[in-house]
Amino acid sequence: MKIILLGAPGAGKGTQAEIICERLSIPAISTGTIIREALKSGTEMGRKAKSYMDAGQLVPDETVIGIIQERLKEEDCKNGFVLDGFPRTIVQAEALDKMGFPIDKVLDIEVADEYIIIRTSGRRVCDSCGAIYHVKYKLSKVEGVCDKCGGTLIQRKDDQPETVKERLKVYHEQTEPLKEYYQQQGKLFIVEGEDGIEATTRKILSIIEAQP
Ligand code: AMP
Repeated sequence: MKIILLGAPGAGKGTQAEIICERLSIPAISTGTIIREALKSGTEMGRKAKSYMDAGQLVPDETVIGIIQERLKEEDCKNGFVLDGFPRTIVQAEALDKMGFPIDKVLDIEVADEYIIIRTSGRRVCDSCGAIYHVKYKLSKVEGVCDKCGGTLIQRKDDQPETVKERLKVYHEQTEPLKEYYQQQGKLFIVEGEDGIEATTRKILSIIEAQP
Protein backbone atom coordinates (compact mmCIF):
# COMPACT_ATOMS: atom_id res chain seq x y z
CA MET A 1 0.00 0.00 0.00
CA LYS A 2 1.20 3.49 -0.86
CA ILE A 3 0.33 6.03 1.78
CA ILE A 4 0.89 9.75 2.28
CA LEU A 5 0.77 11.28 5.76
CA LEU A 6 -0.23 14.94 5.67
CA GLY A 7 -0.35 17.30 8.62
CA ALA A 8 1.36 20.31 10.14
CA PRO A 9 4.93 19.99 11.44
CA GLY A 10 4.62 18.39 14.87
CA ALA A 11 1.25 16.72 14.17
CA GLY A 12 2.83 13.32 14.80
CA LYS A 13 3.49 12.17 11.23
CA GLY A 14 6.94 10.76 12.05
CA THR A 15 5.73 8.63 14.95
CA GLN A 16 2.73 7.33 13.01
CA ALA A 17 4.87 6.63 9.94
CA GLU A 18 7.13 4.39 12.05
CA ILE A 19 4.15 2.48 13.45
CA ILE A 20 2.55 1.96 10.03
CA CYS A 21 5.80 0.83 8.46
CA GLU A 22 6.30 -1.82 11.17
CA ARG A 23 2.71 -2.99 10.84
CA LEU A 24 2.73 -3.26 7.03
CA SER A 25 6.45 -4.03 6.56
CA ILE A 26 6.93 -1.14 4.17
CA PRO A 27 9.49 1.67 4.45
CA ALA A 28 8.69 5.08 5.96
CA ILE A 29 10.26 7.78 3.83
CA SER A 30 10.77 11.19 5.39
CA THR A 31 12.22 13.96 3.22
CA GLY A 32 13.10 15.89 6.41
CA THR A 33 15.17 12.94 7.68
CA ILE A 34 16.87 12.45 4.29
CA ILE A 35 17.78 16.15 4.16
CA ARG A 36 19.08 16.15 7.76
CA GLU A 37 21.23 13.09 6.98
CA ALA A 38 22.62 14.84 3.88
CA LEU A 39 23.43 17.83 6.06
CA LYS A 40 25.19 15.64 8.61
CA SER A 41 27.32 13.94 5.99
CA GLY A 42 28.19 17.33 4.50
CA THR A 43 26.83 16.86 0.97
CA GLU A 44 26.24 19.87 -1.24
CA MET A 45 22.48 19.27 -1.18
CA GLY A 46 22.55 19.24 2.63
CA ARG A 47 24.50 22.48 2.81
CA LYS A 48 22.13 24.20 0.40
CA ALA A 49 19.06 22.98 2.32
CA LYS A 50 20.33 24.14 5.74
CA SER A 51 19.46 27.83 5.38
CA TYR A 52 15.89 27.00 4.34
CA MET A 53 15.41 24.51 7.17
CA ASP A 54 16.83 26.79 9.83
CA ALA A 55 14.50 29.57 8.71
CA GLY A 56 11.44 27.29 8.76
CA GLN A 57 11.09 27.57 4.98
CA LEU A 58 10.59 24.81 2.43
CA VAL A 59 13.56 23.53 0.47
CA PRO A 60 13.03 24.17 -3.30
CA ASP A 61 10.62 21.78 -4.99
CA GLU A 62 13.14 20.42 -7.53
CA THR A 63 15.48 19.31 -4.72
CA VAL A 64 12.89 17.26 -2.82
CA ILE A 65 11.26 15.95 -5.99
CA GLY A 66 14.68 14.63 -7.06
CA ILE A 67 15.22 13.00 -3.65
CA ILE A 68 11.86 11.19 -3.78
CA GLN A 69 12.22 10.16 -7.40
CA GLU A 70 15.46 8.36 -6.57
CA ARG A 71 14.25 6.90 -3.27
CA LEU A 72 11.02 5.38 -4.66
CA LYS A 73 12.99 3.44 -7.28
CA GLU A 74 14.71 1.41 -4.56
CA GLU A 75 13.87 -2.25 -4.09
CA ASP A 76 12.28 -1.87 -0.63
CA CYS A 77 9.51 0.36 -2.08
CA LYS A 78 8.17 -2.43 -4.31
CA ASN A 79 5.35 -3.37 -1.94
CA GLY A 80 4.52 0.17 -0.94
CA PHE A 81 5.71 2.98 1.31
CA VAL A 82 4.63 5.67 3.73
CA LEU A 83 5.57 9.21 2.76
CA ASP A 84 6.11 11.51 5.74
CA GLY A 85 6.66 15.17 4.85
CA PHE A 86 6.29 14.80 1.09
CA PRO A 87 4.52 16.23 -0.85
CA ARG A 88 4.36 19.65 0.77
CA THR A 89 3.31 21.76 -2.22
CA ILE A 90 0.95 21.29 -5.15
CA VAL A 91 3.96 21.24 -7.51
CA GLN A 92 5.42 18.30 -5.52
CA ALA A 93 2.06 16.46 -5.53
CA GLU A 94 1.74 16.86 -9.30
CA ALA A 95 5.31 15.62 -9.77
CA LEU A 96 4.55 12.59 -7.58
CA ASP A 97 1.45 11.80 -9.65
CA LYS A 98 3.68 11.70 -12.74
CA MET A 99 6.26 9.37 -11.18
CA GLY A 100 4.09 6.29 -11.66
CA PHE A 101 3.52 5.20 -8.06
CA PRO A 102 -0.25 5.59 -7.64
CA ILE A 103 -1.08 6.56 -4.08
CA ASP A 104 -3.80 4.55 -2.32
CA LYS A 105 -4.63 6.67 0.72
CA VAL A 106 -3.76 10.12 2.04
CA LEU A 107 -4.22 10.57 5.78
CA ASP A 108 -4.31 14.09 7.14
CA ILE A 109 -3.50 14.23 10.86
CA GLU A 110 -5.22 17.33 12.21
CA VAL A 111 -3.88 19.11 15.27
CA ALA A 112 -4.60 22.76 16.25
CA ASP A 113 -1.73 25.24 15.94
CA GLU A 114 -1.67 26.04 19.71
CA TYR A 115 -1.18 22.39 20.50
CA ILE A 116 1.50 22.03 17.79
CA ILE A 117 3.52 24.81 19.45
CA ILE A 118 3.41 22.99 22.82
CA ARG A 119 4.32 19.67 21.21
CA THR A 120 7.21 20.87 19.06
CA SER A 121 8.81 23.04 21.74
CA GLY A 122 9.07 19.95 23.99
CA ARG A 123 10.34 17.66 21.24
CA ARG A 124 13.86 16.28 21.53
CA VAL A 125 15.66 14.19 18.93
CA CYS A 126 18.67 11.93 19.15
CA ASP A 127 21.56 13.60 17.35
CA SER A 128 22.89 10.20 16.45
CA CYS A 129 19.98 7.95 15.30
CA GLY A 130 17.16 10.52 14.95
CA ALA A 131 14.77 8.83 17.45
CA ILE A 132 12.11 11.23 18.69
CA TYR A 133 11.21 11.99 22.34
CA HIS A 134 9.21 14.62 24.19
CA VAL A 135 9.96 16.22 27.56
CA LYS A 136 6.35 15.64 28.65
CA TYR A 137 4.73 13.01 26.41
CA LYS A 138 7.55 10.62 25.51
CA LEU A 139 10.36 10.60 28.04
CA SER A 140 13.62 8.76 27.57
CA LYS A 141 14.62 6.42 30.43
CA VAL A 142 17.62 8.61 31.27
CA GLU A 143 17.13 12.34 30.77
CA GLY A 144 18.94 13.63 27.68
CA VAL A 145 20.07 10.16 26.56
CA CYS A 146 18.58 8.12 23.69
CA ASP A 147 17.05 4.76 24.77
CA LYS A 148 17.89 3.18 21.43
CA CYS A 149 21.54 4.11 20.88
CA GLY A 150 22.78 6.12 23.88
CA GLY A 151 23.13 9.28 21.73
CA THR A 152 22.52 12.80 23.05
CA LEU A 153 19.01 14.27 22.85
CA ILE A 154 18.87 17.77 21.41
CA GLN A 155 16.27 20.32 20.37
CA ARG A 156 16.27 20.84 16.62
CA LYS A 157 16.80 24.43 15.56
CA ASP A 158 13.62 24.28 13.54
CA ASP A 159 11.65 23.20 16.66
CA GLN A 160 12.38 26.47 18.43
CA PRO A 161 9.15 28.47 18.95
CA GLU A 162 9.82 31.31 16.48
CA THR A 163 10.78 28.86 13.74
CA VAL A 164 7.75 26.69 14.51
CA LYS A 165 5.46 29.70 14.01
CA GLU A 166 7.08 30.31 10.62
CA ARG A 167 6.76 26.61 9.70
CA LEU A 168 3.05 26.72 10.58
CA LYS A 169 2.57 29.77 8.37
CA VAL A 170 4.31 27.98 5.50
CA TYR A 171 2.20 24.87 6.18
CA HIS A 172 -1.10 26.79 5.98
CA GLU A 173 -0.08 28.64 2.85
CA GLN A 174 1.62 25.91 0.85
CA THR A 175 0.79 22.46 2.23
CA GLU A 176 -2.82 22.73 3.40
CA PRO A 177 -4.10 23.16 -0.20
CA LEU A 178 -3.06 19.51 -0.70
CA LYS A 179 -6.13 18.45 1.29
CA GLU A 180 -8.36 19.80 -1.47
CA TYR A 181 -6.06 18.26 -4.11
CA TYR A 182 -6.38 14.75 -2.66
CA GLN A 183 -10.04 15.23 -1.71
CA GLN A 184 -10.71 15.72 -5.41
CA GLN A 185 -8.88 12.46 -6.13
CA GLY A 186 -11.10 10.71 -3.53
CA LYS A 187 -8.07 9.66 -1.47
CA LEU A 188 -8.26 11.95 1.55
CA PHE A 189 -9.02 10.71 5.08
CA ILE A 190 -9.08 13.15 8.00
CA VAL A 191 -7.68 11.86 11.31
CA GLU A 192 -8.23 13.90 14.45
CA GLY A 193 -4.77 13.84 16.05
CA GLU A 194 -5.04 15.53 19.43
CA ASP A 195 -5.97 12.51 21.56
CA GLY A 196 -2.47 11.13 21.99
CA ILE A 197 -0.35 8.67 20.07
CA GLU A 198 -2.28 5.45 20.79
CA ALA A 199 -5.73 6.82 19.95
CA THR A 200 -4.40 8.39 16.74
CA THR A 201 -2.69 5.12 15.79
CA ARG A 202 -5.96 3.20 16.26
CA LYS A 203 -7.80 5.59 13.94
CA ILE A 204 -5.04 5.44 11.34
CA LEU A 205 -4.80 1.65 11.32
CA SER A 206 -8.56 1.27 10.99
CA ILE A 207 -8.50 3.49 7.89
CA ILE A 208 -5.53 1.67 6.39
CA GLU A 209 -6.93 -1.77 7.07
CA ALA A 210 -10.43 -0.95 5.79
CA GLN A 211 -11.22 -2.08 2.24
CA PRO A 212 -10.46 -1.13 -0.45
P1 AMP B 1 10.34 17.72 8.64
O1 AMP B 1 11.29 16.93 9.47
O2 AMP B 1 9.48 16.89 7.75
O3 AMP B 1 9.52 18.70 9.44
O4 AMP B 1 11.24 18.59 7.64
C1 AMP B 1 12.18 19.51 8.13
C2 AMP B 1 12.49 20.56 7.08
O5 AMP B 1 13.01 19.94 5.90
C3 AMP B 1 11.31 21.39 6.60
O6 AMP B 1 10.99 22.48 7.46
C4 AMP B 1 11.80 21.86 5.24
O7 AMP B 1 12.75 22.91 5.35
C5 AMP B 1 12.55 20.62 4.73
N1 AMP B 1 11.63 19.71 4.01
C6 AMP B 1 11.28 18.45 4.34
N2 AMP B 1 10.43 17.92 3.45
C7 AMP B 1 10.22 18.88 2.51
C8 AMP B 1 9.43 18.96 1.33
N3 AMP B 1 8.65 17.94 0.93
N4 AMP B 1 9.48 20.12 0.62
C9 AMP B 1 10.26 21.15 0.99
N5 AMP B 1 11.01 21.15 2.10
C10 AMP B 1 11.00 20.03 2.86
